[in-house]
Order: sequence, then C-alpha cells, then structure tokens
Amino acid sequence: MSNYDLHTHSNISDGLLPPAALVERAATAGVSTLALTDHDDVAGLPFARAAADRLGIALVNGVEISVTWRKRTIHIVGLQIDPQHQPLVAGLAAIRQGRAIRAQRMADSLAQAGIPDALAGAYRYADNPEIIGRTHFARFLVHQGYAKDVRTVFRHFLVGGKPGYVAHEWAALADAVQWINAAGGIAVLAHPGRYDLGRQLLPELIGEFKAAGGRAIEVVTGSHTPDQYALFARYAQEFELLASRGSDFHGPGESYVEPGALPPLPPSLLPVWHDWT
Ligand code: AMP
Ligand code: MN
Ligand code: MN
Ligand code: MN
Repeated sequence: MSNYDLHTHSNISDGLLPPAALVERAATAGVSTLALTDHDDVAGLPFARAAADRLGIALVNGVEISVTWRKRTIHIVGLQIDPQHQPLVAGLAAIRQGRAIRAQRMADSLAQAGIPDALAGAYRYADNPEIIGRTHFARFLVHQGYAKDVRTVFRHFLVGGKPGYVAHEWAALADAVQWINAAGGIAVLAHPGRYDLGRQLLPELIGEFKAAGGRAIEVVTGSHTPDQYALFARYAQEFELLASRGSDFHGPGESYVEPGALPPLPPSLLPVWHDWT
C-alpha cells in the first residue's frame, strides 16, 4: 500500500525530531513516500535521504516557503525541488535573515508585556538558530508557565493583537513559486483552510497562485476538517490543480496527526504524485 505524506517538519525548522528520527517515525507508521518540508531551509534533506535509503522508503526533497500576500502570511510547499538550485538557495537565505530580525522584535514586544529574556529563551529551543520562529517562542512560553501547551500559547500570544506578535514581510508569492519551479519542483498551496480569508479572498489567492505557476493544493492536511477536505477538493477541481496530502507533523505531542495518519485524497482528484516514478 502506498501512503504519501508530503508535508512534515524536522528540527531543522520547528519540528521536534532530527530528520533521521522523523523518517524513522514515518517509516514505522507505514509512510511509503515522505516529503521533508522544513520552513525556509533545506539543510535537513541529506540526513533525511540517508535515513530513507536505509529504511527503504522514498524521500521527496521539499521545503515550505513563508510568503506575504496582501499583508497575510501564506505558506507554499515546494516538492521535488533541487535543493542546490541557486535562486531558491538565495531566496531561502534572505527569508532566514528576516527571521533573525523578526525574532528580536518579537522579544521586544514580549518584554513590553512583562516577559523578559524571550530572545535567549526562544533560541534555546531552536536547534537550528537560522530558523528561529514563533514555535520556539511558544515552547519557551510553555516552559515559563505562561500556557499549558504550544497550541494554547497561540491563543494568547504571538498572533495579531497579542503580545509577541509583529507584522513581518516574507517573500512575494510569485517569487516563491518561481524559485520552486526554476528548481524543478512543484509548488503546492499549503493548508489553505488556515488562512481565514473568507469566500471572497480565497479564490483570489488560489487564482493568483495558479497564475504565478502554482500547480497543486493541499486538500487533506492535519489542520483541515472533513468539511475542508470537501471544500478544497472542489477548489482543486475548479482551478484544475493537483491535490496533495500531508500531515504537517511537527513532533510527538505537538501535532494534530502522526505522519501518514490521514484519510486518503477524495477519489475525484488527481494526486500531485500521479506521474511520479
Ligand atoms: P513562523 O513561521 O515562525 O511564523 O511560525 C509559524 C509556525 O507556528 C507554524 O508553522 C506552526 O508550526 C506554528 N503555529 C502557528 N499557529 C499555530 C497554532 N495555532 N497552534 C500551533 N502551532 C501554530
Ligand atoms: Mn511550523
Ligand atoms: Mn505551514
Ligand atoms: Mn508546515
């Protein structure tokens, strides 16, 4: 049986497991083809590939690129990328520099709210300091007792209007899609149900993504409800996009679902992997 999980994170970004341990966990769970899609970094791929080869599962080179579209943060997954392609490498490096600057401002915002030393605190949870992000701040806040778990942190901190939130300009949508396409990859609109865009803006985003060269959309993902599987299956058909499936696994105890533990894609859709050999 094939089981495709095309969206996962290691500790190269904000996952908890090193790439090899992630691949092992996925293989044990029955995943046959796994994409490692760390935020804005491809440094985990060689380690994941070595583990996948050893365990006899297929590894897809992936990345999840942070994008700003009409002042909102959108995530674009790239699958089957060449991780050494120069424009992609340079684009990701620029995003990582932005993360360091944003982290300083997030810590300033938390300090204003009476939470000191958050910058050093967050970096303690970032195994790869280049990808310092909100999840690392969230783990610090949990450890300090401000919330019971990471998910609860994101209700009271680090989101619009709350302490620790700062607006940030990520890459442009068209640039991210172009980096992926130029690197031989397939651009996938990640977890479209999470953007809170409404019935007006959502088709505009999907239309612009497709016009920029995007080819697929996540339909079955860890943060979608069954209603959202159906909704985005309809969008996939309407916009003639390939469909993807991925857990968005970040680590034991922190994620909605384990690797591979998702329903299959609705049968009416063309999977993003339909022509992979
Ligand atoms: P960043 O790219 O640094 O802004 O961090 C975004 C990451 O924060 C996402 O990829 C998730 O891992 C995490 N995140 C965002 N919102 C939530 C939430 N409501 N619950 C749990 N994790 C979240
Ligand atoms: Mn994440
Ligand atoms: Mn994401
Ligand atoms: Mn993700």
